[in-house]
Amino acid sequence: MIPPGSTIGILGGGQLGKMLATAAAQLGYRVEIYSPEPDSIAADVAAHSTVAAWDDIEALERFARECSVVTYEFENVPVAPLAAIKDMVLRPGLRALEVAQDRLAEKRFAEDHGGRPAPFAPVANAGELETAMKSIGTPGILKTCREGYDGKGQWRTGNGGASDDDLAAIAFPETGCIYEGFVEFESEFSVIACRALDGSIAFYDSAENDHEGGILSRSTVPASMAIVAQVEEARELTRQIADALDYVGVLTIEFFATANGPVFNEMAPRVHNSGHWTIEGAVTSQFENHIRAICGLPLGDTALAGKRVVMDNLIGEAADGWVEILADPQAALHLYGKGQVREGRKMGHVTRVERT
Ligand code: AMP
Repeated sequence: MIPPGSTIGILGGGQLGKMLATAAAQLGYRVEIYSPEPDSIAADVAAHSTVAAWDDIEALERFARECSVVTYEFENVPVAPLAAIKDMVLRPGLRALEVAQDRLAEKRFAEDHGGRPAPFAPVANAGELETAMKSIGTPGILKTCREGYDGKGQWRTGNGGASDDDLAAIAFPETGCIYEGFVEFESEFSVIACRALDGSIAFYDSAENDHEGGILSRSTVPASMAIVAQVEEARELTRQIADALDYVGVLTIEFFATANGPVFNEMAPRVHNSGHWTIEGAVTSQFENHIRAICGLPLGDTALAGKRVVMDNLIGEAADGWVEILADPQAALHLYGKGQVREGRKMGHVTRVERT
């Protein structure tokens, strides 16, 4: 067990790191943030920070020596430099990072453990895209295998999607793309699990997730009955994946709820935006439970703390409405403190818990 008073290292300096650091501080831990950006928002609430590149082995070694345990809030941290660091306790481990960084690897991994992703094919160039579109059909979505997030690095095909000229002009990255069939889903949901050091797993109620332009806009708990009916199967897959990875901490898997059951979309080896509602809406938040898990502490209760919880993301200029939000006695406002407002940028979120 890593006792309170110890230092926890967090790789990545965004809002997830900030909320993890806040939860860690509440339990009496000190946090050190490692991030390549000099003005990371997580460092604002941490005892220490290291500003260095992901492949700076000397800086990583120093960071690892200073931390009793290291975790990550960002799944695109390069694996090779981390693998070179001796004596670093990394939770969750490197394999989870490796699988989740690559859409192809994660879909295959999910399939190997009984999951059903949308039909997919790896594509490395325009010719392979054409073949994949013929065999899988349209509409579909072309996605970069690596580094895409919030709908970035994605092109829709068919039914008003990208034109043939647009598709022909795509510069395929060296790390490849994946073409997947468009899923006719009824709704979307996520399973957020927390696996403790002893292998026990706690699940949060699944949120129903609404997206706008590929970006999460709202999470609602409880989800609709159509989703609730599919949660057990989705949890089983999550458990299989977590066990196979000997996972420690919070693991998130996003699903499409379809007429034929849950379809695996993607996994995040970390706390997740669709779990922000747990800060006010669950007995123990996803952030606190992640800290508890990586430190070997008993997990806290994941039960809902109210009747209904709604979390709205504040994207771009929506965060400018903070005065009105504060005037709502039901609203718990979180502003991330990001300097620059940009279209599509997550600036904060607001949670409303219906208690009775
Ligand atoms: P992703 O980054 O892959 O999670 O995609 C972001 C959002 O785009 C998802 O939450 C869905 O709303 C939508 N999307 C992604 N892939 C598909 C698909 N194969 N079929 C239908 N919608 C999708």
